[in-house]
Formats: sequence, structure tokens, C-alpha cells
Amino acid sequence: MNKTIAVIRGDGIGPEIVGEAIGVLDAVAAKFGHTFTYREAPMGGNAIDAFGVPLPESSLKTCLESDSVLLGAVGGPKWDAQPPANRPERGLLQLRSAMGLYTNVRPARMFADLSAACPLRTDIAARGIDFVVVRELIGGVYFGDHSTATVDGEQKATDIMSYSEHEIRRVAHVAFQMARKRRRRVTSVDKANVLDTSRLWRRVVTEVAAEYPDVELLHMYVDNAAMQIVRDPSQFDVIVTENLFGDILSDEASQITGSIGMIPSSSMGQGTRGLYEPIHGSAPDIAGQDKANPIGTILAAAMMLRYSFDMAAEADAVEAAVDAALKAGCRCGDILLGGGTAIGCREMGCQIRSRI
Ligand code: NAD
Repeated sequence: MNKTIAVIRGDGIGPEIVGEAIGVLDAVAAKFGHTFTYREAPMGGNAIDAFGVPLPESSLKTCLESDSVLLGAVGGPKWDAQPPANRPERGLLQLRSAMGLYTNVRPARMFADLSAACPLRTDIAARGIDFVVVRELIGGVYFGDHSTATVDGEQKATDIMSYSEHEIRRVAHVAFQMARKRRRRVTSVDKANVLDTSRLWRRVVTEVAAEYPDVELLHMYVDNAAMQIVRDPSQFDVIVTENLFGDILSDEASQITGSIGMIPSSSMGQGTRGLYEPIHGSAPDIAGQDKANPIGTILAAAMMLRYSFDMAAEADAVEAAVDAALKAGCRCGDILLGGGTAIGCREMGCQIRSRI
């Protein structure tokens, strides 16, 4: 297969971690007989320096014309004084909106060899953690009207939360399709005992479920879901939820698996093109020192193979290579538990590549 990948290296550790992810993709291409063509798309602080804006037109065009987008991270102290409309992160928001990315997918998966980094009780961690949070990304209270007014001599603030059926339906389809590639169980999280938006959410998700009779659907209130994620995460396969609940639950889910440097994320819209990135930022404190852990970005590349290119065997190979490198004792500084010597970003990339 031939695929074109837009590459946003970004700022800070971005170029280092993306370089290693590309090395792994090249190893996959060589082993499985694919051709990946990379097209550079500058975005973030470096784009402000070179073009005066965080997302140049040419970069946006490259992303929209590619089969998928791989991103490192953007931002850093050098650009903190930029006006809000021209900050590096603004480029990311513009890109998400222009690509119509209405779903964010964040896996919570614990690596057996890093179980010591799991903050949960040993018997709970032993049952395993392997689920994904599918979050609606461009609706709900974050995108409703916000206002603050003086009423009866005091300040009153209001945020409007609204959802339309089509906004719920499209993200529900993503969740059910994802469940079909996993263990076929969807847990829809809402607050239907209190909120109208949640009652609509529950009705529409239930309707969509009828199109996926091979996938089990459960409903759970968000307060219970927050509790169940730490009580017994092994019960979850795919969690689907609205924007605000998903923001909170996906952070909770990623923290129970260990280091921030290990976790990938994807944002998707209509069709198969997605934006794949690690969940962390540009880590300016370790940039340019060969200390960054590239695994989050490498696993983001694996998600791209699985979900955008429908290359399950190739994605499995990348995930297995990461597992094998960890089993062999390879550790960057952020996942070095209880002593030993840390390896650098380049060496970690090399160790994973050699196991594809
Ligand atoms: P951060 O995630 O960059 O760093 C937090 C801590 O985690 C730091 O100590 C860092 O060294 C460490 N860390 C992060 N990724 C690591 C990795 N792969 N390996 C080893 N250690 C790692 O968060 P921050 O410091 O709050 O933000 C730095 C910059 O990144 C800011 O400008 C912020 O706006 C930006 N940011 C960008 C994105 C994005 O591009 N999607 C997301 C979050 C933050």
C-alpha cells in the first residue's frame, strides 16, 4: 500500500520523538512491503518564527491532502508572550477544526513490565488495564455560549451545554466500529438521571447500537464510571462519552497506566484520516538532550496504522516491538523505576525498530 503522511515535528522534543516514530514506520514499510511518503508540515512555535503564524496555509493544505497526520508537540516558553490568537497551540486548534476532528481516542493500556508504575492496588493492576476512551471533541459545554453578568448585585456565570442527535450519532459510530476491532463491548457514560443532553445521548447511542448487534452496550453514570476506572478497570473495552466527561475520564484513565511519555492519542472525523500524537507536550525542560521517551509517539503511529490505514498486523507488530523492548529492560528516564541506567530517545527508537 502507498500512504502519504503529513509530519508535524513541532517544538521542543517534538522533532526528536517524531524522528523515532518515522524510523519505526520505515521498519514497518520494509517488513510489510508498503511505501510511506512523508510530507513536512511546519506548525507551532517554529512556524511562528519562520512564517509569522502557527499554522501556515501550506501546512494546512499538506495535512488536508495527506492520508493522515503525525504530530509531535507544539509550544514552549519562547512563544508564551505571543498574543492568544497567535500562540503555537492555536495552530493545533485550527488544524483540528479544519480537519473536522470530532472524536478523540485515548487508549489506557498498562504494560506488564511497567506495572510497578501503576498507582492502583497490585491485585487490581494484576487483572490488566486495556481500554480506550472515545471522547466527543467539538460539542457540549466547551463549545456552548459562555457568559458572565451581574444579577441582583452579584456575578452570575452561565455555560450552555447542548448536543444535537447527529453530533452524538457520529461519535457513537466511531466507538462501535472501534469495539469491533477490539473486545466488542461499549460502555456509554452519561448523567442521564440529571441532564437532558445525557438523556438524548443515551437514546441516540442505544439507537446506534442496534446497527452493531455483535457489540455489547452498557450505560454508566459518569460518577460511577470515575469510580469503576480505579476500582476495576479490567471491565472496560471502549468507553464513549461527551466532551466534558471525556476530558476528565481520559486523564484519569491515562494516569492509572504510568508515565505520560507512553500514551498516544488520535483525533478523527469523517473518513479514515486522523491526527495522531502523544498526549504530552513539548517538554522544553528536556528538549535537545536525547532524554525524551518516544514510545507515546511510536504508539500513536501504531494507532495510525490500525485505525487510518486498516493495517492491524502492522500495528500489532509495533505494539509487540514496544512490549519486547520493555521486557528486555529498555527504559528512558521517565520510566526508570527503582534504579538502572536510562537510555536516550534515539536508542529507544533503535531498540524498538530492531524488534519489528
Ligand atoms: P509537558 O507534557 O510538555 O511536560 C510535563 C513533564 O513531563 C515535563 O517534566 C516533561 O519533561 C515530562 N515529559 C513530557 N513528555 C515526556 C516524554 N516523552 N519523555 C519524558 N518526559 C516527558 O507539559 P508542560 O511542561 O506543561 O508543557 C510544555 C509545552 O507543551 C507548553 O508550551 C504547552 O502549552 C505545550 N503542550 C502542547 C501540547 C500539544 O502539542 N498537544 C500538549 C500539552 C502541552
